[in-house]
Amino acid sequence: MTKLRNLQEIINECKELSFDLNFTRAKKWKDAQAGRVIVGYMPIYFPREIIHAAGGLPVAIFGGGDRKQIIKGDAYYQSYICHIPRSIMELALDKHLDHFDGFIFPSICDVIRNLSGIFKQHKLGKFIKYMDFPQNFLPQIGGVFYQQEMQHVLHYIKEINGIEVSPEKLNHSIDLYNKNRQLIEYIYTVRQDYPWRLSIEDVYHIIRAGTVIPVEEHNALLEQVCEHIKQDIGTPQDKVKVVISGAFCEQPAIGLIRAIEEAGCYVVDDDYMLGSRMILKDIDTKAENPLEAIANAYITHSQYSSSIYDVHNPKEFRLAKIVKNRGADGVIFASASFCDPSLLDAPIFQNAFDKMGIRYISFQYSENINQFKVIKEQVGAFSDSIKLWEDEPVSVK
Ligand code: SF4
Repeated sequence: MTKLRNLQEIINECKELSFDLNFTRAKKWKDAQAGRVIVGYMPIYFPREIIHAAGGLPVAIFGGGDRKQIIKGDAYYQSYICHIPRSIMELALDKHLDHFDGFIFPSICDVIRNLSGIFKQHKLGKFIKYMDFPQNFLPQIGGVFYQQEMQHVLHYIKEINGIEVSPEKLNHSIDLYNKNRQLIEYIYTVRQDYPWRLSIEDVYHIIRAGTVIPVEEHNALLEQVCEHIKQDIGTPQDKVKVVISGAFCEQPAIGLIRAIEEAGCYVVDDDYMLGSRMILKDIDTKAENPLEAIANAYITHSQYSSSIYDVHNPKEFRLAKIVKNRGADGVIFASASFCDPSLLDAPIFQNAFDKMGIRYISFQYSENINQFKVIKEQVGAFSDSIKLWEDEPVSVK
C-alpha cells in the first residue's frame, strides 16, 4: 500500500466527491481516454461489474439532496410521491448529466419506472434501460432472465464504444468489486465494536464517494481508511447501538444522518448505500460464464430489500439477524416520505419486532428537508429509554 494519508484529508475528499452534482471526477475520467463511457444508474442496486468490464464508469445518481432547489422537476410529478425523481429531473434539465452516455433504471418501484419513461421522452443519453431484476429465485428461471437483462446493457454499451466483453475482463471486474465490498464490510465490522473510531457520517461519505469514481481508486481510499481504523482512535461515548432500515433509495440529508448519532445512537448498520453492499459474499471470479456467476450471487446471497419479493426468505427475520449479529439495541425505521416500498414493509417488520421484543422507532424524511429537531428529540428519547430500561425490551412507536 502507498504511504498512509491523513484520515481527515481522505474524508474531506470523499465528502466533496459524494455531493459533486456535476460529477466532475467521472467527467475527467471519461475525457482522459477515447471510448470511455459513463453509465448512470438509479438506486438501489446494479451490477456495476459489467459496466466496468465494458470500459465504462458506473455512476450512481441519488438526486440533488438538500443541495439542489427544485424548480422544474416539480412539474413532472404529483405532490404525493417521494422527492428523488423531481431532483433527478432537475439535475437532468439543468444539464448536470449531459456527459452521461446511458442511464439504467433498476426495477425498484413505479416512480423509478415512470422516471425512465420521462428520460426516454426527453431523449437523455444514448440509451435508457429499465432493468427488471428477477423476482423468481430459481437459477434456471430468474437467473437466466437476469443474465439476459445484463446482456442488453452490454449490447447498449458496445453500440457506443465497440467493446466486446470477454469472460477474463468480467472476472477481473468482479474481483475488483469483491475487494470493494470486503473493504466496506471490514469498516462495518470494526464499527460494530468500536463505532467511535469513525462516525456514520464519515462512513456514509466514504462509501458514497465510491459510487462516482473508478472502483480502483475507491479501493485504494478504502484500504487507507481500514488502516486508520485498525488503530484505537476516537473516544467512546455513552450511546446505544442501532440499525437504520428503510432509507435505501432517496437519501436523508447528511445533517439527519449526523443528528441520529448526535442524539445518542451509534449506527452500527444501515441500508443507506445498500447498492454498494447488496451482494453478501464474494462472486466467483473463475467462472466460464461470469454473467451466470453474477446472477447466481444475486439469487443466492444478496441482501434483503423492499424491492425484492422473496417470500421464502422473510426479511423481518433477516433484519432481526443483523440486529443480533451487530449487537444492536434497536432499530430506527427511516423512510422517505411517500416511499411505498419502504412504508409498505414497515408494518411487517414492526409486527414481527413487537413479537420478538426488538425495540424500534420510525420516522419519515425528505432529502431536501434539513430541519429535524423533532426527529432528533425522538431519537434522543429512544436512546434514553433503552439506557433506562435496558433489561426490559419494549417497542417504542
Ligand atoms: S424513494 Fe421509494 S418510492 Fe421513491 S423512487 Fe425510491 S423506492 Fe421509489
